[in-house]
Amino acid sequence: MSCNLKENVIEVFNPTNGQHLKEIPITTDSQFKEIIEKSIESKNYWNNSIPGFRKNLIKKFRKAIIQNMDLFIETICSETGKKKFEGMLEVYTSVEHMKHSEKLLSKVFKKKNRSVGTLLTKKAWTELQPLGIAGIISPWNYPLILTLTPVIEALSAGNVVILKPSEQTPLTTELLKSIWDESTEQPDILQIIYGGGKIGSKLVNAPEVDIICFTGSTKIGKMIAIDCAKNLKPVILELGGKDPMIICEDANIDRAVNGAVWGGMSNAGQTCISVERIFVHENIKGEFVKKISEKIKKLSAGNSKNSEVGSISVEAGLEKIKSQIKNEKKASEIIQGGNDKNGFYFPPTVVIDPEFNGELMQDETFGPVVSITSFKTEEEAINLANSTGYGLSASVFSANKSKGKKIASQIRAGSVAINDVMTHYGIADLPFGGVGLSGIGRVHGEEGIKAFCLQKSYMTNRINLGDEMWWYSKSEKFEGIIRKFLKMYFG
Ligand code: NAD
Repeated sequence: MSCNLKENVIEVFNPTNGQHLKEIPITTDSQFKEIIEKSIESKNYWNNSIPGFRKNLIKKFRKAIIQNMDLFIETICSETGKKKFEGMLEVYTSVEHMKHSEKLLSKVFKKKNRSVGTLLTKKAWTELQPLGIAGIISPWNYPLILTLTPVIEALSAGNVVILKPSEQTPLTTELLKSIWDESTEQPDILQIIYGGGKIGSKLVNAPEVDIICFTGSTKIGKMIAIDCAKNLKPVILELGGKDPMIICEDANIDRAVNGAVWGGMSNAGQTCISVERIFVHENIKGEFVKKISEKIKKLSAGNSKNSEVGSISVEAGLEKIKSQIKNEKKASEIIQGGNDKNGFYFPPTVVIDPEFNGELMQDETFGPVVSITSFKTEEEAINLANSTGYGLSASVFSANKSKGKKIASQIRAGSVAINDVMTHYGIADLPFGGVGLSGIGRVHGEEGIKAFCLQKSYMTNRINLGDEMWWYSKSEKFEGIIRKFLKMYFG
């Protein structure tokens, strides 16, 4: 068990050993009301703050996170069952994104002049404004990154934030909140609500909340989209994936093997962009399978220092992985590494030639499992990659750069890494998000901050004339002149 959602509290457990970690009180209805009221009270102040002020506070917050890095790593690992190195990577990715948001704050809020086309007496420009109050709902698989990055983008944009972390991993957020309060002395700008789907739904449906950013499963994402649609509330949905990896005949096989192993197994495969389906050219399939099998057999999931793969964080997740493997009847071979028998450990697993329409190939596995299927032509590989309704990200391995780019452009996904896996997520300036069942909207980069803003357009006159050529009432002669101009200029 990693969490027990009781009526009034969340009991949090360490998934590697079942140790009881802490009880977190669930936010009550009256506390929720108070949080909304405080957000409304602080809205004017924060929404109108200058970007430089917000930048300084975010910088202080970032430095405080780094000062408390060990505590963050320990907390993340205790409630998720990650390895220490993986916990450190979470801190790294989070502060990388924070620092980039600070940089963007100096430029994205500047007024931008726009072309007026043929309306030469006019002047036009755009400016970004915060939407007001942002509601952020996060999952458990990266309790720091996936909570902090949207929070920072929403705060950078000038929104007051109400955050609901996953009930499975509330401790990282509890720590984050205490560090925020201490380092910025702005407790009402970032407030937290604790609990499960019920309180999450309350946040989504609160009329005072101006935008929702949800990271989680496709199933819940669809429900949230419907709730937001009722009030036409803007919503960013960062949902599940079933990422394909295409390995061309000319690829560097050793790099592809290492990439596939890390991309499929790191964080015990519980990454929205982890490699789940590998499509390898038929002429190199034998060598690829031999090499990946050797690596997988040496890899183990467990508590000891020698085991590189951590624990599955949530018991239901472990059951889903087991059931997908059990129901896979067509595979020619299933190769597995080792695993501790206590705790939620699942062995690193490679499934060769699985049933194409089976669960393992169509549904998100979210575990240390990759499948391998061969292809003959590029076209076939692209069709295979595009065969699930998901479109989060993908990877292509080829020694030929233009071939790699060409294949990448034909994969229906929000991001594609060429000769690498998952690293695009760490590039803070690259917009991130999915298509199809993987979601709507973008986080990261300029787009990530803009997603939490109202992009406002303004216009005025260069010269204030008493009349405009399109106002009432113009002569036929004047109309004739305009017609001539249209023919001359646009015809
Ligand atoms: P989940 O959908 O079960 O829960 C996510 C969050 O939504 C939790 O905080 C949960 O309490 C809350 N929630 C549940 N019901 C709700 C409701 N009706 N209204 C509002 N909130 C509600 O997802 P999870 O199991 O925590 O996370 C794993 C999933 O997240 C995987 O599918 C994974 O692919 C996806 N994910 C996506 C990304 C991405 O960036 N695209 C990143 C990480 C994880």
